[in-house]
Amino acid sequence: MENNNRRDFLKKSILGVSGAALIPAALQASVPGNTGITEIPELPFRTLGRTGIKCPLISMGTSMSTNPNFIKAAYDAGVKMFFSAAYYREGNNEIMVGKALKDVPRESYFICTATEPEGFDGRTGTFTTPFDPAAYMKKLEGSLVRFGLDYLDIFLLPMVCKRETVLYEPVLSVLKEFKSQGKVKFLGIATHDMCSDALIAAADAKIFDVIMIAYNYKVQNKEALQQAMDYAAKAGLGIIAMKTTAGAFRDKSRTSPLNTDAALKWVLQNENVSTIVSGMSSIEEMQKNLAMIQNLKMTDQEWKDLNLAGVRSEPSLYCLQCKECLPQCPSNYDIPSIMRSYMYAYGYRDLEHARYTLDQTGLTANPCDKCDVCSVNCSAGFDIKDRIQDIARLRDVPREFLTV
Ligand code: SF4
Ligand code: SF4
Repeated sequence: MENNNRRDFLKKSILGVSGAALIPAALQASVPGNTGITEIPELPFRTLGRTGIKCPLISMGTSMSTNPNFIKAAYDAGVKMFFSAAYYREGNNEIMVGKALKDVPRESYFICTATEPEGFDGRTGTFTTPFDPAAYMKKLEGSLVRFGLDYLDIFLLPMVCKRETVLYEPVLSVLKEFKSQGKVKFLGIATHDMCSDALIAAADAKIFDVIMIAYNYKVQNKEALQQAMDYAAKAGLGIIAMKTTAGAFRDKSRTSPLNTDAALKWVLQNENVSTIVSGMSSIEEMQKNLAMIQNLKMTDQEWKDLNLAGVRSEPSLYCLQCKECLPQCPSNYDIPSIMRSYMYAYGYRDLEHARYTLDQTGLTANPCDKCDVCSVNCSAGFDIKDRIQDIARLRDVPREFLTV
């Protein structure tokens, strides 16, 4: 009985703020299998660095999708590049995307995926256990099997940002081998933090063709980041932007939405960005995104809505990933990753990915119980203890409530 009460409570809080958590999936469920579109429209595009791929300004992050028809609808609407990951829905996302595109010409779309080697420590951003090349190769090949493809277009080494990690030769050797076997066309890295360092290291590594970075109007140290982006672009890297809507809402109840058109346009003002990965979760959102890229000129109201001068002080779900909290917490929690999980859950309603991210942090039961008062002074002004204890409850939610 107590267990039922707890489930009910969790469902009403994390899963059901505003009672709307599962609506995007419901919308997807109504997408017909055959959209009847025979001619794929050409969307505004940019060239993705040295890959030469003409990439529409909007690409699709598939983590929130459970319906292959929704992926196919995006393809029919002109989206060409699809971003999955082996860790999305424990591999089922890759299977779903492969199924969605199995009947269209292979050369008419691009598949990008990611999987990290075992033993990567997200808190320190380094490899902590001896690296097993054969095991990593097997993981990479697993993605091919799940998609049902002979080759991937882009493989991203995720979460790496420190120079020593980006240039970690044992991992690079496996990636080079994977490519030389023709199992992937292009290689890249993906990171949420230390993006300037990552851009420069990826360019210097010479083996990478693309980099995916968290990039939105809230990012800090814009000047240094711009210089690093210029450096990487000049070296031929294609730059892909993620986390572009900065959480989409200011508050967990979603009563204060951000102007997402303005946020996306701001990203695309930077010509170094070839495409945005949008975690579109409904036909309406897709249509809105595709309409936005037809005219990137920002209106006065859109500039005003971004409130660039007040970015640090306004309420937010978006963690700046500055890591200034890390040395302040005696429990050594991976707070930036926990805050990302919080944003996935409340901002994007991506509960599966929120749970995965949370699990990776190794957060124990009853977190923060040793502190009466939190000693962390967060750069974004978050009440860290409150957010950690809030999102930690997601670990108790049965998985059947997370997947629809
Ligand atoms: S200090 Fe705050 S904004 Fe910076 S990484 Fe930590 S939680 Fe995120
Ligand atoms: S309350 Fe703050 S300082 Fe204490 S464990 Fe939690 S995050 Fe760390």
